[in-house]
Amino acid sequence: MKFRRLKFSVLFMVALLAISCTKQEKDAKYVFYFIGDGMGFSHVALTEAYLAASEDKIGSLPLSFSQFPTLGMVATHSANRNTTCSSAAGTALATGTKTKNGMLGMDADSVALKSIAYKAHEAGYKVGIMSSATIDHATPASFYASSAKRSDYFNISIQLTESDFEFFGGGGFHAGSRDKAKADSIFKSAAANEYTIVNSVEEYNAKKGEAEKMILLQQKEQEMGSIPYYLQSEEGSLRLADVVKAAVDFLENEDGFFIMAEAGTIDWAAHSNDVANTVYETLELDKAVAIAYEFYLRHPDETLIIVTADHETGGVALGGNSNSKYNLKIVHDYVNKNVSKDIDTNVDNYMSGEIPIDELSAKANVGWTTTNHTATHVPIFAIGVGHQNFSGRMDNTEVPVKICDAMGIEF
Ligand SMILES: [Zn+2]
Repeated sequence: MKFRRLKFSVLFMVALLAISCTKQEKDAKYVFYFIGDGMGFSHVALTEAYLAASEDKIGSLPLSFSQFPTLGMVATHSANRNTTCSSAAGTALATGTKTKNGMLGMDADSVALKSIAYKAHEAGYKVGIMSSATIDHATPASFYASSAKRSDYFNISIQLTESDFEFFGGGGFHAGSRDKAKADSIFKSAAANEYTIVNSVEEYNAKKGEAEKMILLQQKEQEMGSIPYYLQSEEGSLRLADVVKAAVDFLENEDGFFIMAEAGTIDWAAHSNDVANTVYETLELDKAVAIAYEFYLRHPDETLIIVTADHETGGVALGGNSNSKYNLKIVHDYVNKNVSKDIDTNVDNYMSGEIPIDELSAKANVGWTTTNHTATHVPIFAIGVGHQNFSGRMDNTEVPVKICDAMGIEF
């Protein structure tokens, strides 16, 4: 009897193991690849501490993605510098190859590379590339373009229109920001390549029915720039989460999708050593990831969500300025206009630049070592099919290889 029971439980264990193995081997049909530009470990900790401070609590409250079951860390150096730029890091995250700072989608010898987005597209996945910065900016461009110079925005934009990817979205085209003729050429090329261009979620909803391929931009007056910081945006304006939501709606199909979404303005806020916007742009990423997480809950056995960064920006320190009394309540009160006793101005003055941005960091005792990028490792968070492969230490060139592996695509 005892033996039979043992035999049964062994058989049961074997069956369980077989089921769980099949599950793990199933290809990721829906992939979300989020890149928080400039988001180091400290940016995540800073934002979590802000959430706690806004509830008058000590410590931190988790973001959606910081609760994912797998956490790893990613080395970010480029082919020629310990400290990378966004195009070299974007190229590594998109193509699995290191390149020199300033180069995009090609290796250090200027040989063009094929990104994971093209590989996914060839394998039958629909592809969406989006950013809260302009969509011809270094990180998104690494997924659809090759250029010896990341600043060659016009050439990069034309490559976007020729990529054949089904969805682009976010801020507009930097390429056309100073040159109307160039802007016209980009939109002409997009139309010739059968892209439908819309300037709001409402327009997207009205036109998605007849559209084969879609470019969702901000309203026309803003379409040559990045999406404004949340704290400076107008009510109802396009946000990264809206773009991700539209992308999921447009791309969902039986053969799966690959979505890369960049929160590009975390980097810009950190370059400015601007604590309030660094926190709020990280929260914008969190809202966009929450859209993916809702999708994951509906398709847990077919979805993979990755959240990582290309590099750290600002060398942010929690407790700086020779003072360990780090307190973000002051930032919260600033942003919410509840001016506390020792602050003699309000958030409008802060946002309009009438008071120095570093005053708020100094009061909160948030330190910054630089207005540039740093060489520190960045976090990677994962949930869903194959998430276990993203634990521990890895190089940024390994990330797209691991994602392809989860999708069952040869890299
Ligand atoms: Zn940067």
